[in-house]
Amino acid sequence: MRVYGPDFFRDFRCTGSECSDNCCRMGWDIEIDDDTYNYYKSLDCGLCEHISDENGEHYIIQRSGQCPFLNENGLCSIVLRYGEQHISEICTHHPRFYQWFGNYKEAGTGLCCERSAMLWLTHAGDIRFCDWETDEQPDDLDFDPTLLNAVLEARKTLISLMQSDRFTLSDKLALLLIFGLNAQDLDDTAQADGFLQLSAAFSDTRQLLELLSWARSDLHPHDRLDACKQILEYMSELEYMKPGFPGVIKQLSARLDELVSSGAEFSGSAAQADDRLCAVAVYYLFRYFIGCARSQQCLPVMVFTILSVWFTRLWSIMQFNDGVYSLEENIISVKEFSKEIEYSDNTDRIYEDIYTDSRLSARNILNAAEV
Ligand code: SF4
Repeated sequence: MRVYGPDFFRDFRCTGSECSDNCCRMGWDIEIDDDTYNYYKSLDCGLCEHISDENGEHYIIQRSGQCPFLNENGLCSIVLRYGEQHISEICTHHPRFYQWFGNYKEAGTGLCCERSAMLWLTHAGDIRFCDWETDEQPDDLDFDPTLLNAVLEARKTLISLMQSDRFTLSDKLALLLIFGLNAQDLDDTAQADGFLQLSAAFSDTRQLLELLSWARSDLHPHDRLDACKQILEYMSELEYMKPGFPGVIKQLSARLDELVSSGAEFSGSAAQADDRLCAVAVYYLFRYFIGCARSQQCLPVMVFTILSVWFTRLWSIMQFNDGVYSLEENIISVKEFSKEIEYSDNTDRIYEDIYTDSRLSARNILNAAEV
């Protein structure tokens, strides 16, 4: 099978006991696959007492918000006692993610992990993708190869746009929204052609400048603050695992005026800041845009990508104004957004609310992209 992913994919190593925010302490539902569960059962040593059994599905029962198998040194006691081959599939692969299309597979690492976030951000401006062969069997889920190729082509164009220095960060975010709005209008029976046409248009600088000028023709700078306020208010109503993230939303809301007015200074002074934000966009596009080759709507992917960059940028500006902006702090903000929004039910909620909640209107998103 041909596997395609960022060229640093195979460099990923879990830092285990050195990790400052171990994923075994997130309180997530961790599924145990059948083979692993049956192995634990065969050991008859009490491991299954920590695993729920509901309608044939098995999950680790979290203790005080962390995995009961995590020892006091931050290491997995199952790995230590029985070997790495005996942890569940999800524990083996996390934070790696995959997509399968017949004999083609994509692989990456999620931003919810600090080590992975570090890899994406330190490659900012020059994230490259490559492919390699594995001896896995082809997947048998249905897909349309013509549509897949068109979606891959369009994604390549968008990722290259995100890493180009021809446009500002605000331009790039606005263009993602314009792409999503156009893709939304594609005829269901001509999706592949539509993605190819959009890809061609979005490779043409002149056309992109025209699109930007058209999209911004009736935007007013004084609407930006209100748009950001509305989006933060919407975000404050989502559900979070830990109090830290809603606390950040409160701080951003309270200092919004100051943050919106310091955006230009931040971009001008914090070296690589906008490149790192583009790396965040590249991650979300790489991971989720391919869903358009199955049944995923394009617009929610674009809005979600813009929101992730916009929110991380506001948080970074606050760090910058407080004199603490750094790569390490940036990794924390990127990871927290991923943990609390991307790796939670909030993603589904945002994907739906884009169509119904006026605070997430295209106009508000476009205004926020200008910040
Ligand atoms: S968050 Fe990443 S680095 Fe930390 S323990 Fe989990 S996989 Fe390892």
